[in-house]
Amino acid sequence: MGRTWWIYFVNLAQAFVTLATNDSYARGAMVLGKSLRNHNTSKKLVVLVGPQVSNPCQSVLKNIFDEVKVVDVLDSGDAAHLAMMKRPDLGVTFTKLQCWTLTHYSKCVFMDADTLALSNIDELFEREELSAAPDPGWPDCFNSGVFVFRPSVETHGKLLQYCTEHGSFDGGDQGVLNGFFSDWATADISKHLPFIYNLSSIAIYTYLPAFKQYGGNAKVLHFLGKTKPWSYTFDRKTRQISGGVQEPAMHPSFLLNWWTLYASTVVPMLQEHYGDKPFH
Ligand code: UDP
Ligand code: MN
Repeated sequence: MGRTWWIYFVNLAQAFVTLATNDSYARGAMVLGKSLRNHNTSKKLVVLVGPQVSNPCQSVLKNIFDEVKVVDVLDSGDAAHLAMMKRPDLGVTFTKLQCWTLTHYSKCVFMDADTLALSNIDELFEREELSAAPDPGWPDCFNSGVFVFRPSVETHGKLLQYCTEHGSFDGGDQGVLNGFFSDWATADISKHLPFIYNLSSIAIYTYLPAFKQYGGNAKVLHFLGKTKPWSYTFDRKTRQISGGVQEPAMHPSFLLNWWTLYASTVVPMLQEHYGDKPFH
């Protein structure tokens, strides 16, 4: 009798991944997670949190995400720790790069905590590493607010090494990732995500007619820049948004999208976990 070989097809799950190192970005992550759930994603949701994220916020994140992983570059294994010691300025970047260590997933889509899904975007998982949309400021670079990647300890190690040797030309993760995946602009057009998967308000004042033509098809909003939606205040009764730093205008309807979701679904969860304590 011959030997029976069982072939196991290890069908690893796929996940959307985000990052929040503090309670402000955690609020962004909550809204992002809710937006993906509301559009019935079939993928897992993962959030990497820094140790500074408060317990109530971590509890709310646990209600929305399948996995809440506390990450700290200072005790995350020798390579990351050493890299951090050499380049302390890149702290948040090293934390973001830890998404490559999520090897219990076969493929992931990273999304900044200041992004918001407007429809189901599971089709992004048909793309390969490293797929991303052009950066509106320099379109030969990709914007690292939304990107498709394959978790791999090997790639993670190479990224850390790249980081310590070359640093980041813009001081953040986008500079590192564009340096590392430097053939993105020219090698394979299928790795260029349409701009509607990472739409920022910048397009309104750089190319208004295109924004009017295509903006309505947006699938992901990205509130990039200094002023984040949570920097504003929102009056639930009048649905008025005020405050914030008056930067070149963040599109009011984009802000309203974020605040409507935040006020209707996240605030009740925060209230539950904070009790009577203020959480703003
Ligand atoms: N981030 C964080 N804490 C910080 C800064 C950034 O957790 O103090 C994470 C968060 O996921 C954020 C991403 O890193 O969305 C990139 O930063 P940001 O969105 O502020 O950069 P921008 O898109 O404005 O260039
Ligand atoms: Mn961002």
